[in-house]
Amino acid sequence: MDKKTAKALEKQAEEEKEKQSPLPNLSEIAKNNPDTSPAECKDVLLMRMVTWLRDSHALFDYESRQIQKKNIKVDHSCKIIRQKDEVNTVGSTYKPESDDEATHLFSIIKDDKGDYFIDTEKVHATEKLWLVVRAMKNDSKKLSYELRKGDIIKLGRIQFRVKDLQTPTIPKNDPKVVEPNEDIADVRAALYENEDANEDDDNSSGIQCRFCWGSLCTAENPLINICNCTGTVRYIHLQCLKRWVKSKVKPIQNEKMRECLESFIWKTFECEVCKIRYSSTLRHNDKFFNIFDLDVPDGSFCILESISMQKNSSKMIYVMKPNAPSMNFNVGRGGDSDIRISDISVSRLHAKIKFEDGKFMLEDNTSKFGTLVQIKDKIAITKNHTSAVQSGRTVVTYHRWAKDFPPRLPEK
Ligand SMILES: [Zn+2]
Ligand SMILES: [Zn+2]
Repeated sequence: MDKKTAKALEKQAEEEKEKQSPLPNLSEIAKNNPDTSPAECKDVLLMRMVTWLRDSHALFDYESRQIQKKNIKVDHSCKIIRQKDEVNTVGSTYKPESDDEATHLFSIIKDDKGDYFIDTEKVHATEKLWLVVRAMKNDSKKLSYELRKGDIIKLGRIQFRVKDLQTPTIPKNDPKVVEPNEDIADVRAALYENEDANEDDDNSSGIQCRFCWGSLCTAENPLINICNCTGTVRYIHLQCLKRWVKSKVKPIQNEKMRECLESFIWKTFECEVCKIRYSSTLRHNDKFFNIFDLDVPDGSFCILESISMQKNSSKMIYVMKPNAPSMNFNVGRGGDSDIRISDISVSRLHAKIKFEDGKFMLEDNTSKFGTLVQIKDKIAITKNHTSAVQSGRTVVTYHRWAKDFPPRLPEK
């Protein structure tokens, strides 16, 4: 075989691979696609919708070839829906008659200024919409995702929340501010501001802490009732409860990352008497209390917390506190991962969290089921960038094709 043939074959294989890939290089496709000739349209969305033919835990297998795909060009607002294995665009006012008929995945909005957005408002799909980290790129290079406080990320089917984050540009949060989460329980009864009761009180009211037997009660340290117990064990001080929980949550040592990574396993806590499970956050009169506070360092840090799908399972908390200007935290199922996740849907080296230039950046490591960041509301579609979103087993890659073309010569 001469060099020329070998090269041609290589090119053919490349093209074949590109055609098959669920995350294609859409700007390349656009260049070779006569449909997007400059004369026709100057700012258009090119989309490839790919659906995995299997329906498994709302996952998309980025390695599977058992997919159905379709290319669509859009230059107006519309809805993206899935009917069985097929994804389509429909008008903005379209309403499916039933959920069986079609699932509304998300909407494309084109505003008065001609800017495009991906919008999740009024979407009732059971699956959230996710940004596909590995698909992010501009004209010249791949991009990674900068983590923000409150972000929900998903590796395979395992979800994490960025519970807290501090960098040179993102200042420390008020530790008293409790973020909303999915594990909040109302405190059924609590006693406040009972400061006239002092330590030496003979405690004729019978109200006292089951832990320290004190009856003093302040706004910072109320006596609360968080279980079904009654009588002398009904109340506990918030601070006494926290002390008890802290004594039970032990950090897991990581020899390799001793100085810069702490892991905690949070098993379910329950009342030792009535066996009621304690939620991690308590609410009383619109005030929130965490029953476990982490000691956070002064420098840059990022705290990840796993989100349990079942209320009673344990969760993991990871505190990354880099001690060098740039460093990597490897996340995966493999034994040598810094943040190790034992779930079959997580690849051996699934993702990396890189600390560099004072930012925590999330990067996918071509994992089988992808690294995703939840889209909470609406995101702008940047000109000449490629990106992708995933809803359940469907991935939509999009590229906003908006080049300034040289003016055409007038026809003779
Ligand atoms: Zn107490
Ligand atoms: Zn109890």
